[in-house]
Amino acid sequence: MDASWKPDTTAAVDLALIHGLLQYGADGALGHCPLMLVPTELERDRLAQLQDLTAPSSLLFHRVAQRLDFLAEQLQETAAADEYTGFLLQLAQASQGDLPDLRLLIMRNDYFVTQPDAAGVVQVRQVEFNSMAASYGGLAGRMAQFQKVWGQACGADWDVVPQDPAVGMAEAIAAARDRYGVPGAAVLFVVQPQERNVFDQRILEAALRDRGIPVIRAGLAELGEAAQLRAGHLVLRGQTIAVAYFRAGYRPDEYDSEVARDGLRRIAHSSAIAVPDLPTHLAGTKKIQQVLTDPATLRQFLDEPDAARLEQAFALIVPLAAEITWRGETLTARDAAIRFPADFVLKPQREGGGFNLYGEQMRDCLTTLPPHEYPAYILMERIRPAVQPGWALRGGELWQGDTVSEIGMFGVLLGSQDTVDLNQGVGYLVRTKPQDVDEGGISAGYGYLNGLAIA
Ligand code: ADP
Ligand code: MG
Repeated sequence: MDASWKPDTTAAVDLALIHGLLQYGADGALGHCPLMLVPTELERDRLAQLQDLTAPSSLLFHRVAQRLDFLAEQLQETAAADEYTGFLLQLAQASQGDLPDLRLLIMRNDYFVTQPDAAGVVQVRQVEFNSMAASYGGLAGRMAQFQKVWGQACGADWDVVPQDPAVGMAEAIAAARDRYGVPGAAVLFVVQPQERNVFDQRILEAALRDRGIPVIRAGLAELGEAAQLRAGHLVLRGQTIAVAYFRAGYRPDEYDSEVARDGLRRIAHSSAIAVPDLPTHLAGTKKIQQVLTDPATLRQFLDEPDAARLEQAFALIVPLAAEITWRGETLTARDAAIRFPADFVLKPQREGGGFNLYGEQMRDCLTTLPPHEYPAYILMERIRPAVQPGWALRGGELWQGDTVSEIGMFGVLLGSQDTVDLNQGVGYLVRTKPQDVDEGGISAGYGYLNGLAIA
């Protein structure tokens, strides 16, 4: 599409609505979710490269989650500097004996494809790994259908990559529930009150019900008040829960009340298969992602060539006190970020968007941060993603300009201590944002849902 293209936004909104691309706005009004009208272009080889990273990455997190001793050691300082991480770690240790053998991972690895460097080389760089509440699998499938039909309507010849991540996720959850072995057992969605992105969850719920599986939605507070443990089984509203799938509980403020903490405790001490369980949740923290970029540490968990393959997509991530060489100078990571603020992103131990610090804000934070709080952060090299022109729709309003796209790869893994029964990619998510916006995230209000077309 050339820059003068004027899409029919009324037709686009209608089509988005009939495809179920729905979301509640910040004002509570129901409408289409923020979305892009032209898919992100990606070379076929590049897509294959991203797909090849998914299974080894899931395997890595499955293995790291088996090593609570490792997690406890690596997170010790972070837990001391951050009450929330401390709470999770303590509960993981206290409930270790109750962990079921079977583990189900539903995760998403997020990447940028970089701008060409001076030699014209383009790289894939991992932004982060989500082992907790990896969202947008439901809407991403609808988006692929929408863009295919929308492309027809616009006379465009996009080669949209078809997909439906909710199907692969539902199959993995169904397999885990079967293995749990209690006939009629339900899948619990642990959800936040007033979730705006509820339709994304409802698509997965529908895919489960389509397979005859009962689904219950409940918040952490209700679980704390009403969930019971009966012979190890988690029971809520008279139903035994086989799988507890988290779409909540990844923000510290969700645990402000003791009753919400009790909700998490109840799940952790039950035999329900938690997605994620506490070790997997902890394995997905930004601190652990930093630690795993160390080549020797990575190789404690993965053999070649998996380790080398993942490493190719790692960007520099370091603790603030680490000594690094940057632009020919050797200095601490903290000093490097103060000196070259455009080159780094400062990340606290938080998930869900809107917490990272960039540029002057990062510099201000680092110059005043007391050293005992350093472990609550990691410092990451800033990735410069490739730029494409984009047409974005939010609340029926069109925005046009230069954009960058973050590509997430969904993976599911079902396995126990020694065996992996299922480990595969189940689709992708593209989130596009204006080039000059630092933060990402659709729910957080920065990004737009998008899809992929083969270049
Ligand atoms: P969260 O858990 O909040 O999603 P992320 O690490 O994914 O945390 O960061 C949020 C957003 O910030 C990303 O979606 C991306 O747009 C941007 N971002 C994160 N790390 C980098 C980086 N190293 N370089 C450039 N942008 C980044
Ligand atoms: Mg993220």
